[in-house]
Amino acid sequence: MSVKIELPASIIIRDLAQKIEKSPIDLIKKLMTNGVMATINQAVDFDTAAIVVAEYGFEAVPEAIQEEEQKETGEVPLWRQMIAGEDGAQLKLRPPVVTILGHVDHGKTSLLDAIRSTEVAAGEAGGITQHIGAYQVEKKGRLITFLDTPGHAAFTQMRARGAQGADIVVLVVAADDGVMPQTREAIAHAKAARVPMMVALNKIDRPNANPDRVKQQLAELELVPDDWGGSTMVVPVSAKQKTGIEDLLEGILLVADSSEIKANPNGKVIGTVIEAELDKSKGVLATLLVQNGTLEAGDIVVAGMAHGKLRAINDYRGKPVKKAGPSTPVAVMGLDDVPSAGDLFQVVASDKEARAIVAERQEAAKTQAQSRKKVSLEDLFANVQAGEAKELNLIVKADVQGSLDPIVTELNKLGEGPIGLKILHAETGNIGNNDVMLASASKAIIIGFNVQADVDARRMAEKEGVDLRLYEIIYRMTEDIEKALKGMLEPETTEKVLGRATVLQVFAASKFGRVAGCKVTEGELRRGAKVRLYRGTDIVYEGDLSSLRHEKDDVKEIRTGFECGVGFKSFNDIQPGDQVMCYILEKGE
Ligand code: GDP
Repeated sequence: MSVKIELPASIIIRDLAQKIEKSPIDLIKKLMTNGVMATINQAVDFDTAAIVVAEYGFEAVPEAIQEEEQKETGEVPLWRQMIAGEDGAQLKLRPPVVTILGHVDHGKTSLLDAIRSTEVAAGEAGGITQHIGAYQVEKKGRLITFLDTPGHAAFTQMRARGAQGADIVVLVVAADDGVMPQTREAIAHAKAARVPMMVALNKIDRPNANPDRVKQQLAELELVPDDWGGSTMVVPVSAKQKTGIEDLLEGILLVADSSEIKANPNGKVIGTVIEAELDKSKGVLATLLVQNGTLEAGDIVVAGMAHGKLRAINDYRGKPVKKAGPSTPVAVMGLDDVPSAGDLFQVVASDKEARAIVAERQEAAKTQAQSRKKVSLEDLFANVQAGEAKELNLIVKADVQGSLDPIVTELNKLGEGPIGLKILHAETGNIGNNDVMLASASKAIIIGFNVQADVDARRMAEKEGVDLRLYEIIYRMTEDIEKALKGMLEPETTEKVLGRATVLQVFAASKFGRVAGCKVTEGELRRGAKVRLYRGTDIVYEGDLSSLRHEKDDVKEIRTGFECGVGFKSFNDIQPGDQVMCYILEKGE
């Protein structure tokens, strides 16, 4: 009798091998004899996997859908939290709100324009002239709301503020270009937010379009196309020729049907600010997306730190309306200040109540700024014990795929203990703003292996309180994480900058190898302290300041304005113009 084994709709060869405790090479050979060519990192669908495991005496059964998973991790789509207090009997289906994500130049803007011009303009003399950051289209008598600010920066910014504008993500992938870094990023963002995804396979009109290649790439990222037996809808479109748009809209309705997007039109009026600006003559103009209840002209609204009585409500076509129900985007006037995109808004009973809420928020913002809660590796164990976290979210960046794969494998092993590890995004390349944004929105830690963080990303990480850890040796990294998972990590050491200097010239000194002739521009340099050598934004050396001389004498420290000779421990590749940053490590905050 064969042993039953649960398998998902698609599985990576490596994982499959692990699951049945066989060598991946052996598995690949078995696949080849069955006419399937696959590498260790590629995914195969359930049917293929079932045939192969049968050869080892297993009987594959479809994996039970893990309904509990969402509850366990505590993260529920944000809009569901928004209606948590509503009476279930009052909930009604509302139009889905869709956002379009994807790699630059894959056609996000063109697709939004194509949908708008084919669907909206049809019934509108002259089409829509104003853009308010969102619009609606009708398909089969049902409405779909599109957010007109493509790109995952907007999406993540919203989530970082605790809002979630979109119910469905349409991932645009150019059929001639395939999955690219920002495609992967977008997938990670959507997955982290638990928003269902479908794919618009764009530029299908291009002669070098290769839909099958893109589908293969998607399957490898666990987005197995529906025509391959998976659950991800992939719709071929051409934004340029305006083909496939109808199918795309139908697809969106199908995805909406499978996720029961509801609200109470008579409930508490809440929603999200899509965009806002100050108009010289009209005052504050804001686009609000109503997510529950019905907004009416004359309502008193609090949005972030702004409040006011709504003087006028216009729909996305610029037509005045009296009311706007769930999923309706509206342009409003009457707020006293410009709220930020992603701020939540609510209707309150009186101006007095509005002022009180704003005052409370201002107060809270002050204290929050003073004690920003950081999700750091050091705090992880304490957070788990306090019941605030059950797993550690990670974003992993490495220099090359060859180091990324073993890191992910090692980390996944560590995550098998009582505290889970979830890798939201693993990619090669330096750490950029988008990584920090995703980390901030998902309370994740960024692990960099042999990569650097862009200057902007470092700054943003600092501001957002994102823990960014760089490693050069795999076991150091796994050791740190293992310790953190066991609550044994030493308290964080912080860098205290002592001073900075500029390298003016480089000369050879027999005793120390090469020495940098520097001028101290700030603070002091200290012998025995740590140094980092920057060339532009790149860090070219990190280590100890081994020798420090002023004229012919060895000195312990040297201050601003003075020139000195600096030697770096086992490092000679110094260049004029390099910047020296001298620091010490201090324990604790
Ligand atoms: P975005 O950066 O993702 O918003 O991409 P855009 O919408 O700006 O499109 C990038 C480029 O691809 C533009 O030159 C478009 O004209 C072109 N493009 C977009 N969609 C299509 C398509 O379906 N077919 C072809 N051939 N070109 C397209």
